[in-house]
Amino acid sequence: MSSSRILPVLLPYPFKEPFYYQVPPELEYEAFIPGTLVMVPLGNREEIGVIWEKHQLPKGISLPEEAPKKIKKIKPILSTLSVPPLPAILLQFIDWVAAYTLSSPGMVLAIALRGIQTYASTNTAKTGWILSDLSTNTIRMTPAREKIIQFLKGKEIPFTTKFLSEALTVTSSVIQGLAKAGILEERLLPYHSTFLEPDPSFHIPQLSEDQQKAADFLSKKVEDKQFSVTLLQGVTGSGKTEVYMQAIATCIEQEQQVLILLPEIALSSQWVERFEKRFGVKPALWHSDLSNKQRKLTWQAVIKNEVSVLVGARSALFLPFTHLGLIIIDEEHETSFKQEEGIIYHARDMAIVRARLSNCPAVLVSATPSLETLTNAYHNKYHHLTLSARHGGASMPDVQVVDLRATPPHRGLFLSPPLITATQQRLEKGEQVLFFLNRRGYAPLTLCRACGHRLECPHCSAWLVEHRSTQRLVCHHCDYFIPIPKECPHCSTPDSMVPIGPGIERITEEARATFPDAKILVMSSDSLTSSKATAEAIRQIDQKEVNLIIGTQIVAKGWHFPFLTLVGVIDADLGLSGADLRASEKTLQLLHQVGGRAGRAQSPGIVMLQSYLSDHPVMETLVKGDFNEFMLQEAAERQMGFWPPYGRLAAIIVSADTNEEAMQIAYELGQNAPQMEGVIVLGPAPAPLALLRNRYRQRLLLRTQKHIAIQPILHQWLSSVKAKKSVKIDVDIDPISF
Ligand code: ADP
Ligand code: ZN
Repeated sequence: MSSSRILPVLLPYPFKEPFYYQVPPELEYEAFIPGTLVMVPLGNREEIGVIWEKHQLPKGISLPEEAPKKIKKIKPILSTLSVPPLPAILLQFIDWVAAYTLSSPGMVLAIALRGIQTYASTNTAKTGWILSDLSTNTIRMTPAREKIIQFLKGKEIPFTTKFLSEALTVTSSVIQGLAKAGILEERLLPYHSTFLEPDPSFHIPQLSEDQQKAADFLSKKVEDKQFSVTLLQGVTGSGKTEVYMQAIATCIEQEQQVLILLPEIALSSQWVERFEKRFGVKPALWHSDLSNKQRKLTWQAVIKNEVSVLVGARSALFLPFTHLGLIIIDEEHETSFKQEEGIIYHARDMAIVRARLSNCPAVLVSATPSLETLTNAYHNKYHHLTLSARHGGASMPDVQVVDLRATPPHRGLFLSPPLITATQQRLEKGEQVLFFLNRRGYAPLTLCRACGHRLECPHCSAWLVEHRSTQRLVCHHCDYFIPIPKECPHCSTPDSMVPIGPGIERITEEARATFPDAKILVMSSDSLTSSKATAEAIRQIDQKEVNLIIGTQIVAKGWHFPFLTLVGVIDADLGLSGADLRASEKTLQLLHQVGGRAGRAQSPGIVMLQSYLSDHPVMETLVKGDFNEFMLQEAAERQMGFWPPYGRLAAIIVSADTNEEAMQIAYELGQNAPQMEGVIVLGPAPAPLALLRNRYRQRLLLRTQKHIAIQPILHQWLSSVKAKKSVKIDVDIDPISF
């Protein structure tokens, strides 16, 4: 080989460093700028890799260099892919996330390449149509012809026959006819597009004065093209979405790209519909439900700047945007933004990093912001916009605690008399009611009446949950299941197994018996298994085909149900037990969000919280509605103990096939704990879920003062212990439970 250029190539695998490859003579004239996608040999396979370089890491973090590996035999790069190079900001972002989360850059790259893994094999040329210069008077006009011409007017990119005939409901012969007459010209497609430019002036709602002020502020931030973070806080139904839609419109006008992160795919159908009403077209989507083909199309369209608005789940952060002008994180407090497996990262926090690298504004949206975000807003690190009233004069729901000690449900049942009466009244008036219980299945625990034996998962430290619809007892952590036993597996007493406590299946059963005329809809991850099923459920609610909705946390999200006027929380105390320091914050957010579904239109709503802890601060806060005040109180308590957000925290989870192995390594880590001022190590102790999928888990918590960078400490500490391959040490920076 004559060429002497040797280049680092990062591969989407858990290697710590890029590998080196040589540029062969036939590719000598390629530029190979960082980000260029190449095919390279790896073992006896061909893999996609990316030309790499070193990037700036998070402030204060510098990881020890790996000793350079001896390069035995340098192999050649095989080819380059015919896509633009990954944008420099994305490369920087990948290295940043890897350093922050102590992961290998290759694994982060793997997330970013998810749209392109199949690229090389299936890229075929296709053609579409544009309007030619010929005058339209030369042919006879028909409505179908007119439709096509109107649609293509002013559009510079070609559209395929398939797209035109589906979108405009015209036959392909009409298109052929126009082509023959010279009105349409055939062009090679730059890509196979279904992505249309949203029209920012399509349907602009009249904003209230408060909304307008907030919207103008955000628009200004978009125009400034500078990094900033704004918290948009407003009670549920205050019109936050309308406000940030205007910022999106501004961003489209500026010809910049917008990324909107939603916590749940399930949420996206109502959102997309709303977007379409406002902008005339659908946004691009990015989530795990997409087919490989859709994924590929979207990925390519993003890198070519042909997508201006994309709505997605966490991993959309790693898409190759070239002109990012705005990132919106809706329902920013949602814990589902935390990715808990593989690369452990918080999408909200990483979105802010991405915005900073892209030099664009980020907007965090919530009625009940996380403590981190609220604290940053109060310390003026973030701008803080507030919408204090519901849109259109709708009032906030009246929150009442139903003290279950005073008005208990009938024996063995779970609906209290006050909730039953209120439900009856609402249903009779033709309104909708929601029962909320954050528990799937029929009963969370099954025990033997004779000997007290409880049915536990053999692979996890968790009870088996009865699912009556499938006649099974299921582990919600590993999906292990058994048929519902006829007799106690321990003492063999027949018919002795009894369900303890309610899940939503049991509440549904009780509701059917109590309200025989109600049209019931169950919403949980068991009943809504696809975005299609979710869309159908939402349609039934919108069209009032159902009037009693029974759901798990899936219903707490940002839904807008105009006819819903009563929310009954079956067990408001549910999240409050347990050791998690965040239990109150999370419960408050969840119940506030669920309650926020009530009375969002004309009729005022009520929320009834069934509770045995009616004087708990969380209940009092919900009744009074002073969310921020409660959070500031929490913040003060955290500050005293240097807990986040006033200190830094990392969880180290040691897992192994035997408890002895896990404990041994965890103990060694405890022995070697860093001795520094401002650094505390807690544990080891059994992790929450001390047994999970047959792995025994021990946990240590590393807590430092805020100014101390936690990654180098962890790096040194963890490398002080040599663990066998079978023992795994996972690091969770900024864990959300502690
Ligand atoms: P939030 O996001 O704060 O929960 P939404 O933006 O969903 O609130 O607004 C609640 C309801 O009020 C929605 O149906 C929305 O379409 C309507 N709405 C909000 N602002 C306006 C407005 N300026 N004009 C018309 N309808 C509005
Ligand atoms: Zn299990």
